[in-house]
Amino acid sequence: MTNVTEFTAEGGCTCRAVRYRLTSKPMFVHCCHCSWCQRETGTAFALNAMIEADRVELLSGAPEAVNTPSNSGKGQKISRCPTCRVAVWSNYAGAGDAVRFVRVGTLDQPSRLPPDVHIFTSTKQPWVALPVGTPAFEEFYRRSEVWPAESLARREALLNR
Ligand SMILES: [Zn+2]
Ligand SMILES: [Zn+2]
Repeated sequence: MTNVTEFTAEGGCTCRAVRYRLTSKPMFVHCCHCSWCQRETGTAFALNAMIEADRVELLSGAPEAVNTPSNSGKGQKISRCPTCRVAVWSNYAGAGDAVRFVRVGTLDQPSRLPPDVHIFTSTKQPWVALPVGTPAFEEFYRRSEVWPAESLARREALLNR
C-alpha cells in the first residue's frame, strides 16, 4: 500500500464540472449498510472515505451543500455538483465541516480505496456477501479498537484544532 503522504487520487461528478483531488490517503473507509445510506444511494450501501477537509483540493466547479436529514437526527450536508447533482462528499454533524465523507464511487479509480470496515450490517441486503478479513459490525463500533493509531492521531488533531 502506498504511504499516506504519497497517496493522491482524483475524482469528480458525472458531467465533470466538479473535479477534486485527495492529497493523502483517507483516515478510514466506511462501507455503510444502513437503510439511510441505501435510500440516499438508491443501492445496497454507501462507500465513504473519511478525510480532513483541507486534504480535499477542489480542482474545478463549486459543489453545492444540500441539507439532508440523517439517521442521527442532526442532519448532514451532501455536497453535489450544481449541474448534474451527483453527490461527491458529505459532512455529518458529528465531525462537522472538518471531516469530509468522500463518496468513493466518484473517484476515477474507486478500487484504490476498498472498505476498512463494514457497518450497520444488521440491515445489509441479504445477497451482499462480506469479505473475510474486513471488520464488520451490526451497528457502529469503537474507533479506538478499529482505526490504526496514525488515523486516530489525525482525527484527534482535527478535533483539537
Ligand atoms: Zn456534474
Ligand atoms: Zn449509513
